Parts: sequence; C-alpha cells; structure tokens
Amino acid sequence: MSEKLQDDILSILAQVNVPGSDSNLAELGLISGVVVKDGIAHIALQTNKDSADVMEGVGKKCEQLVSNLTNILSVTVVLTEEINTNSEKKISDKTSIPTLDLTQEERRIKSEGVEFIIAVASGKGGVGKSTTTVNIALALSRLGKKVGIMDADIYGPSIPRMMGISGQPRSEDGKTLIPMESYDIKCMSMGFMVPEEEPTIWRGPMVMGALEQMLKDVEWAPLDILIVDMPPGTGDAQLTMAQGTELAGAIIVSTPQDIALLDARKGLNMFRQVDVPILGIIENMSYYICPKCGDEAHIFDNGGARETAKKNDCTFLGEIPLDREIRETSDAGRPIVISKTSSPHAKAYMEIATKILNEIDALK
Ligand code: ADP
Repeated sequence: MSEKLQDDILSILAQVNVPGSDSNLAELGLISGVVVKDGIAHIALQTNKDSADVMEGVGKKCEQLVSNLTNILSVTVVLTEEINTNSEKKISDKTSIPTLDLTQEERRIKSEGVEFIIAVASGKGGVGKSTTTVNIALALSRLGKKVGIMDADIYGPSIPRMMGISGQPRSEDGKTLIPMESYDIKCMSMGFMVPEEEPTIWRGPMVMGALEQMLKDVEWAPLDILIVDMPPGTGDAQLTMAQGTELAGAIIVSTPQDIALLDARKGLNMFRQVDVPILGIIENMSYYICPKCGDEAHIFDNGGARETAKKNDCTFLGEIPLDREIRETSDAGRPIVISKTSSPHAKAYMEIATKILNEIDALK
C-alpha cells in the first residue's frame, strides 16, 4: 500500500507549480525523494540559495495537498541543496572536495546552547565507531561535562540500542523535540527521523534536512559537548554533514590494519579540507588479551593509528583492545564505562576522554 501511496503523492507533487517559472516540480526535476512509513510522508525537494524562499512556499503547498490524502497522518517536507549528484563519488587521499557555494556563516548549522559539537567518524563501517562514541560520551559525562549524542549514522543508527533506549522522542509544543535521555546523556537518532528500512538513495537527499532538524528543533540546551556519530565513509552524505555543521572538531576511529588506516586518512583529509580540526585518532580493536593465559595478541596488527597520527600531525588519543566485554556491554545497552567502571577498559576510555577535553581546551 505504501508504494501506491508513494505514487499518488508523486503525481500530486508533480503538478505543483513553481512560482516565477512556467513549470511544475516534475518538469523542473525538483522532487528528490518521497518515502511513506506508518502513515507519515517524508518529502525531499531540491532547492538552491536563490530559490529557497520560493521553494519554502512550494513546500508548504505540497504539505497541504499531501496531508489531504486519506491514509496520510502527517507530512514533512525538507528542502535540500544538491551539492553533488554522484553518490558513488569518493574522496581519495589527494582529490580536492567540491565545496558549497556559501559563506562560512551561511553553511554551518549551529545548535543554540551547545558549546561544542564534535564528530566521531571512521573511514569505513564496523570499526567500532558507535561503541567508541557511547563510551566516550559516558566518560566525558563522568568527567563532569553535560553531554549529548546525535546519532547521524544514516546507514545503521545503533546509538539508541547501545544506550539502552527504546521508544520515540516526544514533543510538547509540536515544534521542538525533547531528546531521549539515558545515563544522564541526551540522545537523538537519525533512526527516529528517517524510516530505517528505506534504501539509502532516498536518504541521501533527506540527510541535510533531517540533520538541521536534529540540531535546531531538539531541546539540547544546555550542553557542553554534543557528539555526532557520523555515518562511516567519505561519500556525499558525510561531506554534506562535515561541511554543513558547525563542528568544533572531529575524532577518527580506526582499526589497526593498513586498509582501514587508508580509509581513516581519507576521513582525516575530508575534515581538514572543510576546515574542521582533527582532535585525534583512536585505535579500536588494537590488541587482544587472552583471558586464559593473559598473552597480548595483535590480531589486526597494532600501532598503525599511532603512526598515522604522527605522520598526519595530529594527536593519538589512545588504543582500545578487542574485548568481549566491550562488545557485550555496548550491544546490551550498558556500555562498559558505566557498567564496569573500574575495569581497565573503562579506564582506557576515561583517559581518552581526558585527552579529548585537553584538545577541546586548546581550541578555545
Ligand atoms: P561502527 O559504528 O563502526 O559500525 P560498532 O560500534 O557498531 O561499529 O561496532 C561493530 C561491532 O563490533 C559491535 O557488535 C560492537 O559491539 C563490536 N565492537 C566494537 N568495538 C569493540 C571492541 N573494542 N571489542 C570488541 N567488540 C567491539
């Protein structure tokens, strides 16, 4: 049924005229995505700086028309700026990145009452970026900071599960969202904003709109640090986020293998090219201590991230071992930093968090 609804919505949108032109949305090719889930329609329309005002009106009109459809409970329209249509394009170590044609002030989304927004990123998936994000957030909180986590991983939002959160955020006034809260950390996830099982091609165009909503329409304040769990990789979605958000700095998580480090370097370059300082690199799954004999084994090699940090003139924040307890606790929603506070692993995260605070202080 949602496919039929989607088609109905597309034909309604197609006929909406764009003031100032003699054409409609379809003729101008401005409909970049329509997704329907649980009666909620998400619509993404393309715009650019000059036509943003006109398109805002067009968006309202679309909202009105689509909400008249039976089976549609609510409609959200986001306006997105296309910066690069080739979603496969990747950033190599050397290529320069196309930047948005906007001034610094215009392109960076801020969040009122949040002192620092920092990104946790990885060149590829599965290296433990989200596990690191939650444990570092909890460590910063234990160090006395008021912390929030924004799960912007469009491909696999896992923060709610790792923080033991279920349900949906509420809104009291219909305008702002109250973030979910767990272990004294405010959390929001892209998983709450964009339907999870939709193909990522639809999600790309919605990213910036959803991101803007998560930064501006969520009651984060007051926060010392908002940590953004970025989607892995250096594709368009990541670039849009790195460039479009007022980031104070970025942390790169990598496993020690050469191949992972190559991707980590791409991530590092991506942030640097859009003028976001690198706060440091963390080596995850760095070594394994055999629980039986206590021997240390370097399953994925070791020390590569430290070397990469040195070569690229940035801080090495520390290493976290490959350990069953780290996996079990974060996957069960009780991350090790708060569930086993005196374990060596919790201490390792606390040390990293202290170094991060030093790096943030140096930015002031
Ligand atoms: P990413 O966010 O990079 O995709 P996740 O944080 O979701 O990666 O981690 C992927 C899997 O690896 C999860 O099951 C997680 O519990 C596990 N994991 C992450 N870091 C470690 C670690 N240091 N030791 C053991 N398991 C880990």
